[in-house]
Amino acid sequence: MKQHRPHLLVVFALAIVVLSGLSVGIQNMLTDQRFGWTPRAASGEIVLVAIDPKSIERIGVWPWPRSIHARLIETLEKAGATDIAFDVDFSTPSDPAADAAFAAALQAAGGSVVLPSFRQPIHAGKSGLLHINRPLPEFAAQSWSAVVNVTVEADGRVRRSPFAEIIGGQTLPSMASVLAGASNLSRPPFMIDYGIRAVTVPTVSYADVLDGTPEVLRQLKGKRAVIGGTALELGDRFSVPNGAVIAGPVLQVLAAESIAQQRALTSTSGVVTWSGVALIALLMMLVWRRFPAGPRVALLIALGVAIEAIGYLLQSRWPIVLETALFQTAIVAYLTAIALDEIDVRGLLSSIAEKRFERVTMSLGDGLVCAGPDFAITMWNPGAESIFGYRADEMIGRPFDTLCAHPASDNTFAPFSIRDLPEQSLQAAGGRVVEFEGRRKNGETFAIEACFSGWQGTDGFNYGASLRDISLRKQEAEKIRYLAEHDSLTGLPNRDALQVRLRAAMAEAQCHPHPISLLAISVDNLQQTNVMLGQGFGDLMLRTIGEHLKLELGIGAFVARLTGHEFAVLADHADGEAAMALCRQCRAAFDRPLPVGGRSHKVDVSIGVVMLPDHAASIDEAFGNAHLALVRAKAERNGAVFYEASFRRDMESRLSTEADLVRALADHEFELFYQPQVSLADHRVIGAEALIRWRHPERGLIPPFQFMPIVHTSPISNAVARWVLHTACRQGAAWSGAGHRIRMGVNLSPSQFAEGDLADDVVTALAATGLPAAQLELEVTEDILLDDAARALAMFHRLLDQGVRVVFDDFGTGYASLSYLRKFPLNGLKIDRSFVSELVSSRTDAAIVGSTIDLARQLGLSVVAEGVEDRTTADMLAKLGCAEAQGYFFGKPMPASEFAATFFAVERSDQSQARAVRA
Ligand code: C2E
Ligand code: CA
Ligand code: CA
Repeated sequence: MKQHRPHLLVVFALAIVVLSGLSVGIQNMLTDQRFGWTPRAASGEIVLVAIDPKSIERIGVWPWPRSIHARLIETLEKAGATDIAFDVDFSTPSDPAADAAFAAALQAAGGSVVLPSFRQPIHAGKSGLLHINRPLPEFAAQSWSAVVNVTVEADGRVRRSPFAEIIGGQTLPSMASVLAGASNLSRPPFMIDYGIRAVTVPTVSYADVLDGTPEVLRQLKGKRAVIGGTALELGDRFSVPNGAVIAGPVLQVLAAESIAQQRALTSTSGVVTWSGVALIALLMMLVWRRFPAGPRVALLIALGVAIEAIGYLLQSRWPIVLETALFQTAIVAYLTAIALDEIDVRGLLSSIAEKRFERVTMSLGDGLVCAGPDFAITMWNPGAESIFGYRADEMIGRPFDTLCAHPASDNTFAPFSIRDLPEQSLQAAGGRVVEFEGRRKNGETFAIEACFSGWQGTDGFNYGASLRDISLRKQEAEKIRYLAEHDSLTGLPNRDALQVRLRAAMAEAQCHPHPISLLAISVDNLQQTNVMLGQGFGDLMLRTIGEHLKLELGIGAFVARLTGHEFAVLADHADGEAAMALCRQCRAAFDRPLPVGGRSHKVDVSIGVVMLPDHAASIDEAFGNAHLALVRAKAERNGAVFYEASFRRDMESRLSTEADLVRALADHEFELFYQPQVSLADHRVIGAEALIRWRHPERGLIPPFQFMPIVHTSPISNAVARWVLHTACRQGAAWSGAGHRIRMGVNLSPSQFAEGDLADDVVTALAATGLPAAQLELEVTEDILLDDAARALAMFHRLLDQGVRVVFDDFGTGYASLSYLRKFPLNGLKIDRSFVSELVSSRTDAAIVGSTIDLARQLGLSVVAEGVEDRTTADMLAKLGCAEAQGYFFGKPMPASEFAATFFAVERSDQSQARAVRA
């Protein structure tokens, strides 16, 4: 249907043109145009004797007496006119004398004068009835009759003239035939050649002829004369082609001239017309599909021009009018068909809507791309250009899949093609959103979010896609995920990431049982490093440690950072032995100092290990138990400790005790007992050591070894220590105030060196209680000094400046006791009970105690022997040169009141008696 459309349109156009009669009008127009292009002159053989305004003015009002016409005939005859033809009505009688004169003139002319007959419609009667006007019989008998009828065509113009007409059964020649001397009268009416210009017809005035003006008469010699009215008032005028109006006689002359000059025109037949149209249609069928619109338009125009040229040539050379109206109609129809094809009316209408649509899409930031049923791109907006880098002219017509990268199977995106989209899903509201990997012009691939829609077009299913570059969004999401899963300082996975890993491993182990090891690794003394070398160095050290761990342990171990100074290592499919190997590897990694920030730094680590699933059922428990093992490793100064069930129990009881201790401090459940220190020379009490007791409401009196280790590592440590110091000082001051100026020994806690300011506390305590500084004796143990020797040393000096005594407790039990004597400015030492108790039985111990006493004497230090339980030992110590002692033999630790009652009361009454009691 579509391919026949232009031809059908032509048939339709031809039918309309023919049926409406438009073809006649077109043909007339074309023929008339050709007249304009081929002007011809009249032959000059026929002269018009015009009844012109001048004649009417001279002769009088029309109609004239026929005697005047009689005179004219005579004059014309005399002038030598060969033929005389009247285009004047002689059908009605007038003045009989004049009529008779006219008849006589006709007769005198030898019967050669031509008079007109014509049909006239009877206006009053029924249409179609015609009255035939003939010359009066008396005239007709003496003349030739000729018809002067002309047919006025539909457009009001006169074009044709007959050769002859049958009137009343008699064939009468037309005046033109008569004037031109035509022989064959049976021909159909002919077309007057209006190329013959009316102005070239020789014309003389009737009045001039009648006057016998010789000049005028000369013009008539040997010519044919046509007499007729040209004056306007006579009304005998006709419209002819090319807008002219001419008088009836002129028309008769032109018709006669047409015959005489062989210019009586006839039209080509319908056969020619329709064969021509068929040829044009055939030609068009041949070229329609083969050539684009331009050449076809050129061909049609050339054809039209050529046809008209041929028509012009034919008409100018031969009396043939080539009917080209339908040819031109067909050509114009074909041109219209091409125009319709090209312009596409519907397209025109929708182009306005499209303009608006385009405005919007062109300003969109998103890429907007349309594709036709063949998946070739049909629309490309600037948004798409900025995303992909292609210009519209590069992309229109190219397959949509040019925009899709075809990612490898390990990519996050599956391969995508527009061809895979089911049409139905695209027609639903909202279209279909797809994420896929796109490719830019420069080859770069990136994430796209596309919303596809589709619609049924005239040419098939069309696709529309709004495309958005989401690579930034993806990168951001990736970054956020990285930050959420990694430690910002070391770049190692963080605790959350480790948990995810551990959860996955544990879940897997539930299906396929296998051991998992989790190591918690703590960097010792990080706080100290931060204080000494700065936070920046500490950070750098942690980063280096992280890298080092990863490097040393290899890919089998998942290294993460837990908190400030703690790392963790997760090893899947690692049993106890493998875990042990890992621990060794970890410790070996830090055997040598690490290069940190341009210096070598020795790092010590402690490791707590849990084995899963044996040591824990949940992730929290796994982390908790690893930590318990780590705490134990730190406390025991033992590099790596594997978790044991007892750790948790200990920790739990420890935690409950800790809570109990806090309450105990608040409820004043702590008490100080005092143990006497005596002079071995006379067993006189010279001092007391304050020893803490916990009077528990349910458990009774609890000795310090059961709770002091917990206090030392708990937050209340310093508070308890301060309480001891103050209470002991107050007691010492009270006794001193009562006249018993004995020494007060106070045991120091590690926390008093680690945190707080011991020297300050001592000043405060002395000031608050009024105990003379010289009476206060602070007992320090090796583990206290071990923690932070530098700080301890500084503190010692300040304490000594106060006038307070400092003695070294439990001398001989530590492994560096002697070196401390050298390092610290001490006032004295207390020989540990373990040496004293075996003094009598063990020669070795005796030797040690003896040399210690000697050493102290030489160093100028005081000596107290602890744990003296019997007289033999006391005596032996005295013999060895020991001046002072402490022990059950002299008195157990006891409440202050008991101490005072026992020793001060006795002292007052009878010292020797008291000694006797004890002995
Ligand atoms: P220490 O400082 O060596 O105290 C001496 C310990 O030896 C005391 O035990 C005392 O009762 C015991 N003792 C004295 N003479 C004898 C004897 O002849 N035979 C035997 N078997 N033992 C004797 P206590 O009171 O149980 O204190 C134990 C440890 O607790 C103290 O050892 C000390 O290290 C710590 N301690 C006690 N009170 C305090 C305190 O107030 N502060 C601090 N920081 N530690 C304290
Ligand atoms: Ca002590
Ligand atoms: Ca001691």
